[in-house]
Amino acid sequence: STDKQRPHVVLLASPGAGHLIPLAELARRLVEHHGFAATLVTFTDLISSPEALSGVPACVFTAALPPVPLQDLPAATPMETALFELVRRSLPHLRTLLRSVAQLAALVPDFFCSAALPLAGELSVPAYVFVPSNLTALALMRRTVELHDGVPPGEHRDLPDPLKLPGGVLLRRADLPRAFRSSNEPVYAHHLEEGRRNRQADGILVNTFYEMEPATVEEFRQAAAEGAWPPVFPVGPFVRSGSDETGDSACLEWLDRQPTGSVVYVSFGSGGSLSVEQTAELAAGLEASGYRFLWVVRMPSMDGSDEEEEHGRCKNGNPLAWLPEGFLERTKDKGLAVAAWAPQVRVLSHPATAAFVSHCGWNSTMESVSCGVPMIAWPLYAEQRMNAVVLEGSVGMALRVRPRARDAGGDGVVVSRGEITDAVRELMEGQEKGRAVRRQAGDMQQAAAHAWAPEGSSRRALEEVAATWKAWRACRGEAVTD
Ligand code: UDP
Repeated sequence: STDKQRPHVVLLASPGAGHLIPLAELARRLVEHHGFAATLVTFTDLISSPEALSGVPACVFTAALPPVPLQDLPAATPMETALFELVRRSLPHLRTLLRSVAQLAALVPDFFCSAALPLAGELSVPAYVFVPSNLTALALMRRTVELHDGVPPGEHRDLPDPLKLPGGVLLRRADLPRAFRSSNEPVYAHHLEEGRRNRQADGILVNTFYEMEPATVEEFRQAAAEGAWPPVFPVGPFVRSGSDETGDSACLEWLDRQPTGSVVYVSFGSGGSLSVEQTAELAAGLEASGYRFLWVVRMPSMDGSDEEEEHGRCKNGNPLAWLPEGFLERTKDKGLAVAAWAPQVRVLSHPATAAFVSHCGWNSTMESVSCGVPMIAWPLYAEQRMNAVVLEGSVGMALRVRPRARDAGGDGVVVSRGEITDAVRELMEGQEKGRAVRRQAGDMQQAAAHAWAPEGSSRRALEEVAATWKAWRACRGEAVTD
């Protein structure tokens, strides 16, 4: 069949919708624009995202690696360690799969699966890492790796505080992903190892585009020219088409009934959850803003208080049950709350949507950029704070809200209702800051569209990569027939 004749790219997605979704979109473009066959490989364990998996385009083959035992890991194993173990233990299965692919042309593991890169070496195919995040995250990883060049194995150094990255990005310790804040963090060493393997890749594909991080792109160009780091290809933004999305269409019908540019969309991604207290503050802040809203509500995170856990069982897994008493009733003409998941690309591209209160996951960010929707940056974990720094600072398309100590003696930190109300109003109607951010969102939308237009920078970068893979495959094909 023609599939057997086409050069075949295998892409490997670590668990999580945020990794799977952009990799699926990369795969689709390789198939539709460049004539490859593509198989997207996933793991069976850990965080599964049925919604994301069901949205993989039909032209992309999928394969799930068989489950591997992880029960022997101690209960307190950090998520990242479990992930690294999962990948490591799955390598034999992946090897078997790769060997069964005719015309294998390249292996593309994401950022967290770089342990698979040596398999490409074994099969002598090019190995390209995919970064579902941005170049700032990659720059952080590169700094960490280079900080340890010449340092004896097992010894770890702390990153400087603040850490200066290209483009005037200045990251304070608290803005770094937890694992990078101290060399004593249990997973710091894992990330270092991951970074060192990334440095061995033949190339690195990143879900960003030139105008998003121009200074960082330039820095990596320089590094590649000096042989200090593999060539980096900004090939984004990868935003799936809304027609691939699954999920409740009730919110789209609701949006259809709202005026143009009137709705604040609120979502914290596939993994973000707020505390019960924070949920109540957000509800109050939205309500007080007077604006219309569409809120994707997830189960609250439990802060350890048994009483709340108790309720969790009573409330039967319905996140809407955690909203403050009477809130839905009072806001029923203004707002819609949906449980767990919304078709986000369709929501963001809907004309009624005007603003996005977001955890700044990078996919959500790229989606907001592509739709020209300005953001309120409310980062929660992973590299989200770093993204928020970039979005508020060098990119300038977000206002940021910050959690503060509740009161003297209070033990939690929350973003207050007042701050939420103010930020929403500023973003929707503010004549200075708000206006600048709204205008910048429009400019970035144009730049993003440009990057993927014919002759656009991202499109050309992916063409270059595709040509390299094909040339390599053609060479090898000849060598085999000889
Ligand atoms: N997503 C969605 N509906 C939801 C929540 C998330 O479609 O209700 C999609 C979102 O569009 C994005 C991905 O899931 O493509 C989340 O990735 P992101 O990097 O933004 O955040 P993460 O979930 O990895 O924290």
